[in-house]
Amino acid sequence: MTEFDFLIDLHLNAERQGPGSPQDTQRALSFLPWDAHTPLQIADIGCGTGAVSRMLAQHFPASTVTAIDLFPDFLERVTVGYPATNLQTLAADMSDLPLAPASLDLIWSEGAIYNMGFEAGLAAWRPLLKDGGYIALSEITWLTAERPQPLTDHWATAYPEIDTAAAKMAALERQGFSPVGYFYLPASSWLQHYYEPMEAQFEAFLTRHDHHPIAAAIVADERHEIALYRQYQAYFSYGFYIARK
Ligand code: SAH
Repeated sequence: MTEFDFLIDLHLNAERQGPGSPQDTQRALSFLPWDAHTPLQIADIGCGTGAVSRMLAQHFPASTVTAIDLFPDFLERVTVGYPATNLQTLAADMSDLPLAPASLDLIWSEGAIYNMGFEAGLAAWRPLLKDGGYIALSEITWLTAERPQPLTDHWATAYPEIDTAAAKMAALERQGFSPVGYFYLPASSWLQHYYEPMEAQFEAFLTRHDHHPIAAAIVADERHEIALYRQYQAYFSYGFYIARK
């Protein structure tokens, strides 16, 4: 098993594979101009096991939602127990999507664009949107202009593109988008919806892998990240950005 296999195994049975909640998704949806009956082409990029993709498909029943992820194991879960036919899956790399230019009305992506980098992702995905199309993304964001040095040091290695909402909006503008909405995820979206369910899985995960060193290293990393969040949650969160091409 590779590190990816262990990570997939740890996250496969979770509701979400990153911070976020149905309330956050609903709030981001409220910034869009369309009613439920508009037939849209929607992509949910880096969908994981598809909690958000299913919400989008339910919210826009006349639309087609394509749930995209690199890992087929996640995609297999997307339509489980979802009866409607307006949700499909696509195994693809977000940096090389097999979609036609100007084919999408809406690109959604929660907690995933960091895999490419925010600005690189915007540049790669913009051509896929029709003019007047929307993008809705969550991205790790500084909440304050200044913060403690240990936190700055951590993120300088973990994700150097972390920045303030003002800087992220400037990046959106540079990449040809007009920001229409911003908010940041509350602590409950990190703790109740993501970290606490994950913590509850650690012992079973370690046991079923016989405390394999890769599994143990993953748990140690996650515990470190969770401790950092608990200590410094006033200084960073996921920002949710809604913008129009
Ligand atoms: N949007 C989901 C999952 C977020 S976790 C949620 O909010 O719950 C990030 C997801 O991005 C994971 O499912 C991971 O498999 C996927 N991912 C990582 N690198 C990717 C890539 N290069 N192309 C497509 N998906 C990728």
